[in-house]
Amino acid sequence: MSNQVIEASEKMQKEIIQHYQKYQIERKAPGVIFAAKLSDVTITAYRSGKILFQGAGADREAQLWNTNTSASNKPMNSLPPHLSELSVVGSDETGTGDFFGPVTVAACYIQKDQIQLIKQLGVKDSKLLTDHHMLKIAPHLKELVPHKILTLRNEKYNEIQGRGWSQGKIKAYLHNQAIKLVLEQLSDDKPDYILIDQFAEPKVYYRHLQEVEHVIKEHVIFATKAEQIHVSVAAASILARVAFLDEMERLSTIVGEKLPKGAGSKVDEVAAKLLLRKGEQFLQSVTKKHFANTGKAKSLAQKRNL
Ligand code: MG
Repeated sequence: MSNQVIEASEKMQKEIIQHYQKYQIERKAPGVIFAAKLSDVTITAYRSGKILFQGAGADREAQLWNTNTSASNKPMNSLPPHLSELSVVGSDETGTGDFFGPVTVAACYIQKDQIQLIKQLGVKDSKLLTDHHMLKIAPHLKELVPHKILTLRNEKYNEIQGRGWSQGKIKAYLHNQAIKLVLEQLSDDKPDYILIDQFAEPKVYYRHLQEVEHVIKEHVIFATKAEQIHVSVAAASILARVAFLDEMERLSTIVGEKLPKGAGSKVDEVAAKLLLRKGEQFLQSVTKKHFANTGKAKSLAQKRNL
Protein backbone atom coordinates (compact mmCIF):
# COMPACT_ATOMS: atom_id res chain seq x y z
CA MET A 1 0.00 0.00 0.00
CA SER A 2 1.41 3.32 -0.89
CA ASN A 3 0.36 6.92 -0.45
CA GLN A 4 1.16 9.96 -2.50
CA VAL A 5 0.18 13.56 -1.93
CA ILE A 6 0.51 16.31 -4.47
CA GLU A 7 -0.31 20.00 -4.27
CA ALA A 8 -2.43 20.95 -7.23
CA SER A 9 -3.08 24.42 -8.56
CA GLU A 10 -6.71 25.33 -9.09
CA LYS A 11 -6.32 24.60 -12.80
CA MET A 12 -4.73 21.23 -12.24
CA GLN A 13 -7.33 20.35 -9.64
CA LYS A 14 -10.02 20.91 -12.25
CA GLU A 15 -8.15 18.77 -14.76
CA ILE A 16 -7.72 15.99 -12.23
CA ILE A 17 -11.39 16.00 -11.30
CA GLN A 18 -12.36 15.90 -14.95
CA HIS A 19 -9.89 13.10 -15.63
CA TYR A 20 -11.32 10.83 -12.94
CA GLN A 21 -14.94 11.94 -13.31
CA LYS A 22 -16.25 8.60 -14.44
CA TYR A 23 -14.71 6.85 -11.44
CA GLN A 24 -16.23 9.26 -8.96
CA ILE A 25 -17.37 7.91 -5.60
CA GLU A 26 -19.26 9.52 -2.75
CA ARG A 27 -17.03 10.65 0.10
CA LYS A 28 -18.42 12.85 2.84
CA ALA A 29 -15.46 14.01 4.85
CA PRO A 30 -14.39 17.47 5.95
CA GLY A 31 -12.59 19.39 3.23
CA VAL A 32 -13.11 16.76 0.56
CA ILE A 33 -14.40 18.16 -2.73
CA PHE A 34 -14.04 15.07 -4.90
CA ALA A 35 -13.16 11.38 -4.64
CA ALA A 36 -12.72 8.61 -7.17
CA LYS A 37 -11.82 4.95 -7.09
CA LEU A 38 -9.92 2.96 -9.72
CA SER A 39 -9.18 -0.74 -9.38
CA ASP A 40 -5.94 -0.16 -7.51
CA VAL A 41 -6.02 3.41 -6.28
CA THR A 42 -8.32 5.85 -4.54
CA ILE A 43 -8.03 9.54 -5.30
CA THR A 44 -9.21 12.21 -2.90
CA ALA A 45 -9.15 15.91 -3.68
CA TYR A 46 -9.25 18.44 -0.82
CA ARG A 47 -10.37 22.04 -0.87
CA SER A 48 -6.84 23.00 0.20
CA GLY A 49 -5.51 21.83 -3.19
CA LYS A 50 -4.01 18.63 -1.80
CA ILE A 51 -4.71 15.48 -3.78
CA LEU A 52 -4.24 12.17 -2.02
CA PHE A 53 -3.57 8.96 -3.94
CA GLN A 54 -3.86 5.74 -1.92
CA GLY A 55 -3.22 2.18 -3.01
CA ALA A 56 -0.92 0.07 -5.16
CA GLY A 57 -1.36 2.40 -8.13
CA ALA A 58 -0.71 5.60 -6.15
CA ASP A 59 2.77 6.27 -7.56
CA ARG A 60 1.64 5.76 -11.11
CA GLU A 61 -1.39 8.05 -10.88
CA ALA A 62 0.41 10.74 -8.89
CA GLN A 63 3.17 10.81 -11.48
CA LEU A 64 0.63 11.57 -14.16
CA TRP A 65 0.10 14.93 -12.53
CA ASN A 66 3.30 15.83 -10.88
CA THR A 67 6.80 14.45 -10.72
CA ASN A 68 7.41 16.51 -7.64
CA THR A 69 5.92 13.99 -5.25
CA SER A 70 7.35 13.01 -1.89
CA ALA A 71 11.02 12.15 -1.56
CA SER A 72 10.45 8.42 -1.13
CA ASN A 73 9.02 8.27 -4.61
CA LYS A 74 11.17 6.81 -7.35
CA PRO A 75 12.09 9.18 -10.15
CA MET A 76 9.79 9.10 -13.14
CA ASN A 77 12.29 7.60 -15.54
CA SER A 78 13.80 4.90 -13.41
CA LEU A 79 13.07 1.42 -14.71
CA PRO A 80 12.54 -1.58 -12.44
CA PRO A 81 15.77 -3.46 -11.73
CA HIS A 82 16.48 -6.51 -13.92
CA LEU A 83 13.60 -5.58 -16.19
CA SER A 84 15.24 -7.35 -19.15
CA GLU A 85 14.99 -10.68 -17.29
CA LEU A 86 11.34 -10.44 -16.27
CA SER A 87 8.09 -11.59 -17.89
CA VAL A 88 6.89 -8.65 -19.92
CA VAL A 89 4.23 -7.66 -22.43
CA GLY A 90 5.88 -5.31 -24.93
CA SER A 91 4.25 -3.12 -27.56
CA ASP A 92 5.43 -1.09 -30.52
CA GLU A 93 4.04 0.46 -33.70
CA THR A 94 5.14 1.23 -37.22
CA GLY A 95 3.92 3.00 -40.34
CA THR A 96 3.26 6.40 -38.77
CA GLY A 97 5.85 8.08 -41.01
CA ASP A 98 4.87 6.31 -44.24
CA PHE A 99 2.57 8.04 -46.72
CA PHE A 100 1.46 4.78 -48.30
CA GLY A 101 0.08 2.01 -46.14
CA PRO A 102 -1.28 1.43 -42.67
CA VAL A 103 -0.32 2.08 -39.09
CA THR A 104 0.30 -1.21 -37.35
CA VAL A 105 0.72 -1.96 -33.67
CA ALA A 106 1.76 -5.23 -32.11
CA ALA A 107 1.94 -6.40 -28.53
CA CYS A 108 3.35 -9.69 -27.33
CA TYR A 109 4.04 -11.44 -24.09
CA ILE A 110 7.38 -13.03 -23.42
CA GLN A 111 7.77 -15.00 -20.25
CA LYS A 112 11.10 -14.96 -18.51
CA ASP A 113 11.78 -18.63 -19.36
CA GLN A 114 11.36 -17.83 -23.06
CA ILE A 115 13.71 -14.88 -23.27
CA GLN A 116 16.78 -16.91 -24.27
CA LEU A 117 14.89 -18.90 -26.88
CA ILE A 118 13.44 -15.78 -28.45
CA LYS A 119 16.85 -14.14 -28.55
CA GLN A 120 18.23 -17.24 -30.27
CA LEU A 121 15.66 -16.76 -33.01
CA GLY A 122 17.52 -13.57 -33.82
CA VAL A 123 14.98 -11.21 -32.32
CA LYS A 124 16.41 -7.77 -31.78
CA ASP A 125 15.58 -4.18 -32.58
CA SER A 126 13.72 -4.20 -35.91
CA LYS A 127 15.80 -1.25 -37.07
CA LEU A 128 18.83 -3.57 -37.04
CA LEU A 129 17.14 -6.29 -39.10
CA THR A 130 16.34 -6.52 -42.81
CA ASP A 131 12.75 -6.92 -43.95
CA HIS A 132 13.72 -10.30 -45.35
CA HIS A 133 15.04 -11.46 -41.99
CA MET A 134 11.95 -10.23 -40.14
CA LEU A 135 9.62 -12.01 -42.56
CA LYS A 136 11.50 -15.21 -41.74
CA ILE A 137 11.42 -14.78 -37.95
CA ALA A 138 7.80 -13.62 -37.64
CA PRO A 139 6.03 -16.98 -38.20
CA HIS A 140 8.13 -18.60 -35.46
CA LEU A 141 7.43 -15.75 -33.09
CA LYS A 142 3.71 -15.98 -33.78
CA GLU A 143 3.77 -19.65 -32.87
CA LEU A 144 5.78 -19.22 -29.71
CA VAL A 145 4.31 -16.23 -27.92
CA PRO A 146 0.86 -14.79 -27.15
CA HIS A 147 0.51 -11.72 -29.33
CA LYS A 148 -1.91 -9.34 -31.00
CA ILE A 149 -1.32 -7.40 -34.18
CA LEU A 150 -3.58 -4.52 -35.22
CA THR A 151 -3.51 -3.09 -38.72
CA LEU A 152 -5.23 0.26 -39.17
CA ARG A 153 -5.85 0.50 -42.89
CA ASN A 154 -5.82 3.78 -44.78
CA GLU A 155 -9.56 4.25 -45.13
CA LYS A 156 -10.19 3.95 -41.41
CA TYR A 157 -7.08 5.98 -40.60
CA ASN A 158 -8.23 8.81 -42.87
CA GLU A 159 -11.69 8.72 -41.39
CA ILE A 160 -10.59 9.10 -37.77
CA GLN A 161 -7.79 11.51 -38.63
CA GLY A 162 -10.45 13.58 -40.41
CA ARG A 163 -12.46 13.57 -37.18
CA GLY A 164 -9.55 15.32 -35.53
CA TRP A 165 -7.64 12.44 -34.01
CA SER A 166 -3.92 13.11 -33.74
CA GLN A 167 -1.42 10.39 -34.53
CA GLY A 168 -0.69 10.29 -30.80
CA LYS A 169 -4.29 9.49 -29.99
CA ILE A 170 -4.48 6.90 -32.75
CA LYS A 171 -1.34 5.20 -31.45
CA ALA A 172 -2.54 5.30 -27.84
CA TYR A 173 -5.81 3.58 -28.79
CA LEU A 174 -4.03 0.89 -30.78
CA HIS A 175 -1.42 0.19 -28.10
CA ASN A 176 -4.04 -0.02 -25.36
CA GLN A 177 -6.21 -2.32 -27.46
CA ALA A 178 -3.37 -4.64 -28.52
CA ILE A 179 -2.13 -4.95 -24.94
CA LYS A 180 -5.62 -5.59 -23.65
CA LEU A 181 -6.13 -8.36 -26.20
CA VAL A 182 -2.83 -10.00 -25.25
CA LEU A 183 -3.69 -9.87 -21.54
CA GLU A 184 -7.00 -11.55 -22.30
CA GLN A 185 -5.09 -14.49 -23.78
CA LEU A 186 -3.18 -15.04 -20.54
CA SER A 187 -5.22 -16.94 -18.01
CA ASP A 188 -3.43 -17.13 -14.66
CA ASP A 189 -0.11 -16.01 -15.96
CA LYS A 190 0.40 -12.34 -15.13
CA PRO A 191 3.23 -10.33 -16.65
CA ASP A 192 5.55 -8.54 -14.24
CA TYR A 193 5.31 -5.43 -16.41
CA ILE A 194 3.83 -4.01 -19.56
CA LEU A 195 6.42 -2.03 -21.47
CA ILE A 196 5.32 0.45 -24.13
CA ASP A 197 7.85 1.84 -26.55
CA GLN A 198 7.30 5.45 -25.57
CA PHE A 199 5.89 7.88 -28.12
CA ALA A 200 4.30 10.34 -25.68
CA GLU A 201 4.62 11.37 -22.08
CA PRO A 202 2.60 8.97 -19.92
CA LYS A 203 0.15 11.66 -18.88
CA VAL A 204 -0.45 12.59 -22.51
CA TYR A 205 -0.89 8.92 -23.38
CA TYR A 206 -3.54 8.48 -20.68
CA ARG A 207 -5.31 11.69 -21.61
CA HIS A 208 -5.65 10.36 -25.16
CA LEU A 209 -7.46 7.41 -23.61
CA GLN A 210 -9.83 9.43 -21.45
CA GLU A 211 -12.94 8.16 -23.19
CA VAL A 212 -11.84 4.55 -23.34
CA GLU A 213 -13.79 2.10 -21.20
CA HIS A 214 -10.93 -0.22 -20.34
CA VAL A 215 -7.57 1.50 -20.03
CA ILE A 216 -4.66 -0.77 -19.13
CA LYS A 217 -2.66 1.01 -16.44
CA GLU A 218 -1.50 -1.47 -13.87
CA HIS A 219 2.19 -2.37 -14.17
CA VAL A 220 2.48 -0.25 -17.31
CA ILE A 221 5.80 1.46 -17.89
CA PHE A 222 7.05 3.60 -20.75
CA ALA A 223 10.55 3.84 -22.11
CA THR A 224 12.11 5.18 -25.26
CA LYS A 225 14.22 2.69 -27.24
CA ALA A 226 12.36 -0.02 -25.36
CA GLU A 227 13.30 -2.62 -28.01
CA GLN A 228 16.73 -2.49 -26.45
CA ILE A 229 15.37 -2.86 -22.93
CA HIS A 230 13.22 -5.98 -23.25
CA VAL A 231 13.02 -8.56 -26.01
CA SER A 232 9.19 -8.45 -25.94
CA VAL A 233 9.28 -4.94 -27.43
CA ALA A 234 11.83 -6.05 -30.03
CA ALA A 235 9.52 -8.94 -30.92
CA ALA A 236 6.52 -6.58 -31.06
CA SER A 237 8.43 -4.24 -33.35
CA ILE A 238 9.12 -7.15 -35.72
CA LEU A 239 5.48 -8.27 -35.72
CA ALA A 240 4.30 -4.72 -36.35
CA ARG A 241 6.81 -4.29 -39.15
CA VAL A 242 5.84 -7.55 -40.83
CA ALA A 243 2.15 -6.61 -40.62
CA PHE A 244 3.04 -3.32 -42.27
CA LEU A 245 4.95 -5.12 -45.04
CA ASP A 246 2.04 -7.54 -45.57
CA GLU A 247 -0.42 -4.69 -46.01
CA MET A 248 1.98 -2.85 -48.33
CA GLU A 249 2.18 -6.02 -50.39
CA ARG A 250 -1.61 -6.22 -50.57
CA LEU A 251 -1.86 -2.57 -51.61
CA SER A 252 0.92 -2.95 -54.17
CA THR A 253 -1.04 -5.75 -55.80
CA ILE A 254 -4.16 -3.58 -55.96
CA VAL A 255 -2.21 -0.65 -57.37
CA GLY A 256 -0.23 -2.79 -59.78
CA GLU A 257 3.19 -1.57 -58.75
CA LYS A 258 5.46 -1.77 -55.76
CA LEU A 259 4.63 1.05 -53.38
CA PRO A 260 7.60 2.83 -51.81
CA LYS A 261 7.97 3.31 -48.06
CA GLY A 262 8.59 6.54 -46.22
CA ALA A 263 7.50 10.02 -47.29
CA GLY A 264 10.29 11.18 -49.60
CA SER A 265 10.45 12.29 -53.23
CA LYS A 266 10.15 8.76 -54.60
CA VAL A 267 6.82 8.57 -52.81
CA ASP A 268 5.68 11.86 -54.40
CA GLU A 269 6.58 10.51 -57.84
CA VAL A 270 4.60 7.31 -57.46
CA ALA A 271 1.70 9.20 -55.87
CA ALA A 272 1.60 11.69 -58.78
CA LYS A 273 1.50 8.86 -61.31
CA LEU A 274 -1.30 7.16 -59.39
CA LEU A 275 -3.22 10.40 -59.19
CA LEU A 276 -3.09 10.80 -62.98
CA ARG A 277 -3.92 7.18 -63.62
CA LYS A 278 -6.59 6.47 -61.03
CA GLY A 279 -7.74 9.75 -59.50
CA GLU A 280 -7.70 11.38 -56.11
CA GLN A 281 -10.12 9.13 -54.31
CA PHE A 282 -8.12 6.08 -55.22
CA LEU A 283 -4.91 7.71 -54.07
CA GLN A 284 -6.54 8.50 -50.73
CA SER A 285 -7.59 4.90 -50.27
CA VAL A 286 -3.96 3.76 -50.13
CA THR A 287 -2.37 6.74 -48.32
CA LYS A 288 -2.47 8.85 -45.18
CA LYS A 289 -4.07 11.72 -46.98
CA HIS A 290 -3.23 14.49 -44.50
CA PHE A 291 0.50 14.11 -45.21
CA ALA A 292 2.17 16.90 -47.19
CA ASN A 293 2.85 14.30 -49.91
CA THR A 294 -0.74 14.69 -51.13
CA GLY A 295 -0.14 18.32 -52.06
CA LYS A 296 3.25 17.58 -53.59
CA ALA A 297 1.81 14.77 -55.69
CA LYS A 298 -0.94 17.10 -56.90
CA SER A 299 1.47 19.76 -58.09
CA LEU A 300 3.69 17.16 -59.78
CA ALA A 301 0.65 15.72 -61.51
CA GLN A 302 -0.48 19.16 -62.63
CA LYS A 303 2.88 19.92 -64.22
CA ARG A 304 2.77 16.65 -66.12
CA ASN A 305 -0.73 17.30 -67.30
CA LEU A 306 0.15 20.61 -69.00
MG1 MG B 1 8.36 2.56 -31.45
